[in-house]
Amino acid sequence: MSDFTFDTSARDGMARAGTIQTPHGTMHTPTFTVVGTYGQVRFVPPEVLHQIGTQAMLCNGYHLFREASRLEAAGGLAAAFGWNGPTVTDSGGFQVMSLGSGLGKVVSMEHDDVGRRPTTNPENRLAQVTDDGVSFRNPVDGKLEVFTPEISISAQYQIGADITMAFDELTSIGDSYEYNQIALERTEKWADRSLRANRELNAEYPDRPFQAIYGVLQGAHYRDLRESTAKTFSEMDFDGYGLGGAFEKRQLGDILNWTNSILPEYKPRHLLGLSRPDDIFVGVAHGIDTFDCVAPTREARHGRLYTQTGNIDVMRARFADNPEHIDPECDCPTCQIPRIEPRDTNGFISTGLIRRLLKSHNQAERRLGYSFTSVHNVRFILRLMEQIRANLISGTFNEFRKDWLTRYLGNYQIVSGLTEKLR
Ligand SMILES: [Zn+2]
Repeated sequence: MSDFTFDTSARDGMARAGTIQTPHGTMHTPTFTVVGTYGQVRFVPPEVLHQIGTQAMLCNGYHLFREASRLEAAGGLAAAFGWNGPTVTDSGGFQVMSLGSGLGKVVSMEHDDVGRRPTTNPENRLAQVTDDGVSFRNPVDGKLEVFTPEISISAQYQIGADITMAFDELTSIGDSYEYNQIALERTEKWADRSLRANRELNAEYPDRPFQAIYGVLQGAHYRDLRESTAKTFSEMDFDGYGLGGAFEKRQLGDILNWTNSILPEYKPRHLLGLSRPDDIFVGVAHGIDTFDCVAPTREARHGRLYTQTGNIDVMRARFADNPEHIDPECDCPTCQIPRIEPRDTNGFISTGLIRRLLKSHNQAERRLGYSFTSVHNVRFILRLMEQIRANLISGTFNEFRKDWLTRYLGNYQIVSGLTEKLR
């Protein structure tokens, strides 16, 4: 008996508001799943995540791979670090295949002859894709390791997330149509193997919470590939779908439109790795229910803060000793903390104080700064999602989108589903 359900309560075109029920709690969609690579969000304790309205956390299957047994013994990912809410893991495929580029080397795939850019010397290649899976040299100890759909799914099962992802091959933006076609066929086979492995594990351990699996759709920016793979995945018994791929952002609306008009409406859809507010609006407008991205916390640590009237970079010299509020409209704990320093005379945490903390030579001060900024950026995105949901339910999504983006971006226009900023 599955403890995983998805219901929609409001619709506006392809956009929808709904609920995803998981064994560890309910997600009210559309929503943003905060990324906690190793099972926790850096500088933000679980109780603060709950306080600011976080509904789910996405963790990286690859990074947790070696911790899988320990997490299993601790009662699973939700319990292990005190989060106790819905969790999602990705398959680890993205990390494994990015190993090469992460170290300044190009990941090598098979079929270099059909349009892959030149790769490094074979002996320097860190990852090789075959029909069975991906073999790669661990960048830490240089050992040869293999990742297959079955290994990924069994690790994700041990880690114990509510939603797991099928193993897929992510192509890169320079790949040819022919290479994408080959990779997509492989991804479809891996999806089938991932689904079977997940169903077998759920059947083998009926006393454990049910773990859902999403199929991950690729196909880059090629319409026929996107449509054919959406048909293939529609016929597979996945609990939901993850949409991935390397493509130019201006194609996002079209790609989602091709894919989501074919996928079954009664299953949830997750957009992998995008969180810019204009991307979120495009995603929601084209039927996406959940999002994830490292950007809000990573940008926060670099002093790039989201505000209602556009993003600011507090590391810039003009923010030195600046007494102004980060965003007077923000309801996050950082923006609500009363004055803590005599130099900040306005009674709140100012951009000047944030800048001073982030630039401090004292590690404890820097960490406090990271905590302040991470909480702010995550809450900003979560609040936007809450407002989007409320406007979907009241039937005012399009007006809200226009008003919100006008303030955030200044002048802009929507061209074929895409938000374009005007000069
Ligand atoms: Zn704030």
